Amino acid sequence: MPLYEYVCQDCGVRFEVLRPMRDADADIPCKNCLGKNTKRALSVFYASSDGRSVTSSGSCDSCSGGSCSSCGHH
Ligand SMILES: [Zn+2]
Repeated sequence: MPLYEYVCQDCGVRFEVLRPMRDADADIPCKNCLGKNTKRALSVFYASSDGRSVTSSGSCDSCSGGSCSSCGHH
């Protein structure tokens, strides 16, 4: 299943979601503010090569070290 990245136009949070290709352009609520004003960013698929898992959702680029106030990841 491809990994898609979305950007919230309201709060600016980027988040990644694993979802079927047919749902790639379907609306998805922001994980931070639950707003519906989100846009799909470029697909990143499994391009990450720094060793961290990209299969778990709920984390953003800045919270690889632990909790993150920008996306609510703990
Ligand atoms: Zn948001």
